[in-house]
Amino acid sequence: MTLLGDAAHLMPPLGVGVNLAMLDACDLALALARSATIDEAVRAYEHTMLPRSTETAAMLENRTEDLLSEEAPE
Ligand SMILES: Cc1cc2nc3c(=O)[nH]c(=O)nc-3n(C[C@H](O)[C@H](O)[C@H](O)COP(=O)(O)OP(=O)(O)OC[C@H]3O[C@@H](n4cnc5c(N)ncnc54)[C@H](O)[C@@H]3O)c2cc1C
Repeated sequence: MTLLGDAAHLMPPLGVGVNLAMLDACDLALALARSATIDEAVRAYEHTMLPRSTETAAMLENRTEDLLSEEAPE
C-alpha cells in the first residue's frame, strides 16, 4: 500500500495540491512500469515523493499568514 496526493501530504491552500497529486501519479506509474516488483516500485516512488512533499511543505510554511491576515484587503 502507498499514498499519493492529499492523502500523502496535505498542503496549505497555495495552489500546489493538484500539481503535486498529478506528479505523484506520474511518478508512481513510471515506477510501476520500470520496476520488477510492486514493492520495488513503491519504494522508488516514495523515495521521490516523500522528500519532494517535505521540501514543498517547508517552503510553504507560514505563507498562509498572507491569506488570513487581518490587514488583507476586504
Ligand atoms: C477550495 C480549494 C481550492 C483549491 N485550489 C487549488 C488550486 O488552485 N491549485 C491546486 O493545485 N490545488 C488546489 N486545491 C487542492 C487540490 O484540490 C487538492 O490538492 C487535490 O484535489 C488533491 O487531489 P487528490 O486526488 O489527492 O484528492 P481529492 O481530489 O480529494 O480526491 C480524493 C477522492 O477520493 C474520494 N474518496 C474519499 N473517501 C473515499 C472512500 N472511502 N471511497 C472511495 N472514494 C473516496 C473523494 O470523494 C475524492 O473524490 C484546492 C483545494 C480546495 C479545497
